[in-house]
Amino acid sequence: MKRVLVSGGAGFIGSHLCTRLIEEGNYVICLDNFFTGRKSNVEHLLKYKQFDLVEHDVINPFWTDVEEVYNLACPASPIHYQFDPIKTNKTAIFGTYHMLGLAKRNGAKMLQASTSEVYGDPISHPQREPDWGNVNPIGIRSCYDEGKRCAETLCMDYHRQHDVQVKIIRIFNTYGPKMLPDDGRVISNFVVQALKGDDITIYGDGNQTRSFQYVDDLIEGIMRMMKTEPDFTGPVNIGNPREFTMLQLAELVLKQTGSKSKIVFKPLPHDDPRQRRPDITLAKTKLDWEPCVPLEEGLTKVIDYFRNLFSV
Ligand code: NAD
Ligand code: UDP
Repeated sequence: MKRVLVSGGAGFIGSHLCTRLIEEGNYVICLDNFFTGRKSNVEHLLKYKQFDLVEHDVINPFWTDVEEVYNLACPASPIHYQFDPIKTNKTAIFGTYHMLGLAKRNGAKMLQASTSEVYGDPISHPQREPDWGNVNPIGIRSCYDEGKRCAETLCMDYHRQHDVQVKIIRIFNTYGPKMLPDDGRVISNFVVQALKGDDITIYGDGNQTRSFQYVDDLIEGIMRMMKTEPDFTGPVNIGNPREFTMLQLAELVLKQTGSKSKIVFKPLPHDDPRQRRPDITLAKTKLDWEPCVPLEEGLTKVIDYFRNLFSV
């Protein structure tokens, strides 16, 4: 049985990852400070002897014996990461530094949950891993974007200087059950608004694009990345290359929920990327991975999830 640690394990993605790791017979230590994570997300795992839930803030060091570290701790939705931007930066940077230190001391592998945000408002499209990104270093998204960029730098320096096996994945917009209904991300917002009969809020003209990946596809990509050969560090894009405008997404949500909600337009937040779509050639080649859940199918699951949550 492998001992593995998941930082941010009580969050949306982290809780799905902990479930998969337990199903595969690992001993899982889930670290979380419960800023955006919830104990209820991992409640179903508490009955297992091989699951430990530890309240801990990754801006402070943490020591235990582990063979693998999955570093996911960091708020991911703009509302939450902009709530206390200095804390977000500390979490992204000090948190990664501490998890790398833990991996180094144990001779463990570390998977870093990086993000498509490292590409900023992309100059080339679709986004490929060698792209350096077009990121505003002083804007309202910078605490997250630059924090995550610096975290990638730390990973690569620990790899070169201390021989730590690092695995960097750049995650593109991911959705699924266990997203918080009020975290402001577009899929949860639109679905919750549609189910409640509230206005669907499109920011800007709705022509900006995103590519949405269902959480099960991401978890499969994470598992495959951790198993790659020792010297393979990535970064690797993990996302679904089907691209949608926010207008198309709003129409799809209205159709699939059967809602009569109206679409309304609100100001576009600062530095909101205009387009985003992953080139997943590297993931296909190195991980033999590609997403298999179409947006229509994943949306049905998310709609059911929020319907149950609100009993509507
Ligand atoms: P989330 O907010 O649901 O999960 C983050 C988890 O980290 C939460 O449980 C939170 O309580 C915990 N956390 C935050 N600060 C912490 C700290 N200082 N110490 C300990 N725990 C802390 O978000 P998510 O969507 O599950 O994202 C997980 C990871 O994946 C993040 O690192 C995020 O940057 C990355 N990511 C997510 C997406 C996406 O679309 N969901 C896209 C790109 C990257
Ligand atoms: N968005 C929107 N209405 C909402 C929430 C978000 O139109 O109620 C837009 C947002 O401006 C962005 C896109 O949807 O262009 C994706 O936003 P999200 O916060 O989900 O992810 P990110 O911008 O971090 O990719």
